[in-house]
Amino acid sequence: MRITFYGGVGTVTGANFLLEGGDTKILIDCGLVQGTPDSYERNTEPWLYDVKSVDFLFITHAHMDHIGRVCKLVKDGFKGVIYSTPETKELAQVMILDAIKVMENNERNSGENNTEKPLYDVSDYEQTISKWRVVSYHEKMNAGGFEVYAKDAGHILGSAMYEFSFNGKKVVFTGDSGNSPAPLLNDTEKITDADYLICDSVYGDRNHEPKEERDARFRQIITETIKSNGAVVIPAFSIERTQVVLYLLNNLIEENKIPSVPVYLDSPLGIKVTNIYKQFKKDFNPEVQQEIKSGDNIFDFPKLNITHSSRDSQEIAKAPNPKIIIAGSGMSTGGRVMWHEMQFLPDPKSTILLMGYQAIGTLGRQIQSKPKFVEINGANVPVRARIEMISGYSSHKDSDNIVEMVSDTSETVKKVFVVMGEPSASIHLTQRLREELDVDAIYPERGQTYEL
Ligand SMILES: [Zn+2]
Repeated sequence: MRITFYGGVGTVTGANFLLEGGDTKILIDCGLVQGTPDSYERNTEPWLYDVKSVDFLFITHAHMDHIGRVCKLVKDGFKGVIYSTPETKELAQVMILDAIKVMENNERNSGENNTEKPLYDVSDYEQTISKWRVVSYHEKMNAGGFEVYAKDAGHILGSAMYEFSFNGKKVVFTGDSGNSPAPLLNDTEKITDADYLICDSVYGDRNHEPKEERDARFRQIITETIKSNGAVVIPAFSIERTQVVLYLLNNLIEENKIPSVPVYLDSPLGIKVTNIYKQFKKDFNPEVQQEIKSGDNIFDFPKLNITHSSRDSQEIAKAPNPKIIIAGSGMSTGGRVMWHEMQFLPDPKSTILLMGYQAIGTLGRQIQSKPKFVEINGANVPVRARIEMISGYSSHKDSDNIVEMVSDTSETVKKVFVVMGEPSASIHLTQRLREELDVDAIYPERGQTYEL
């Protein structure tokens, strides 16, 4: 077997790996490069491999940095079969159609000096879906001589870790491994018999706050902001974070642990994704299953307002405080949350509550650093609101938890490839794995091939 790292090295985004064995070529993930000044160039540059000769594409989960170039791959001649879990396929359809809409709007709005064309269109999307099959967790399948087995990664709904066995050797891709225990999902399944491990490392150099702290802080920040008659603005990723926030608020309000105030879910994509989560309740952890069985509608509670139209979205600012606003995008790189940030960043009574990773170069990262001003859509907006960050609800394992995950297979593993992190995070994790587990961990280079 051979593996080549075409994306997702030296950076969190753009996952794209090629696994070869015998005559079979398997791609794992085909994601967008996001958040860097050269993202568009990177996403449009020619593929570094022969797209037409690839037999299979396996998708670990429905985040855009893992699926965002799948339609481009098909547009450029991919003739093979795409596989993911059924949950991932459902989510991916919603995410890709939304991305196409955003790309087409951007092109329209940027006028004549536009240099960024959409990467693909709806007809490429339809071609893509016609090639897309599903494989459930724990369902053994064969792909060109490889035995493939998907385990629950516990990262977002439908997220999978794939085990590829060939000639008696097992290669495991973690995709993005989840921050277990998670509020909604099951724990990441254990990997115990990998010969080679391709391991994510977003938080390779940092730990999250202890799990007991995250719920207490979430409750405290909301209670204090309500008391001072402000608005709590939560920029939320449409997948997983939006549903987790709804679930937490549902429990806090029903248990009278926070005052019942209007909550606005102002994210068309978040609303669609929440409806998909409702279809796959079987994937939730036993505690959540129990709540559902006892009759609780876990994503719904009194005073929850679902905001569909953008006109209703603008009305939210005029509604009296206190209130809670959940809106996308999660890193404030677009979407309705930017409008709410313009309204409430200047208000000392209000809070911007960041609950996820904010990549370098995003507005969210700027806000996180608490500057005096930020620029939003050409306007200079003073930052007087309270800025809070809770990293404990991240969907990614922290450094200690990744080391623990790898330790489960440290007896069998011949090499660990540390990918999908900023260089400092990946390098730090590589060192830790070598020193603490005595495994052969490396930080591969982009385009480099390794014999397995
Ligand atoms: Zn992810």
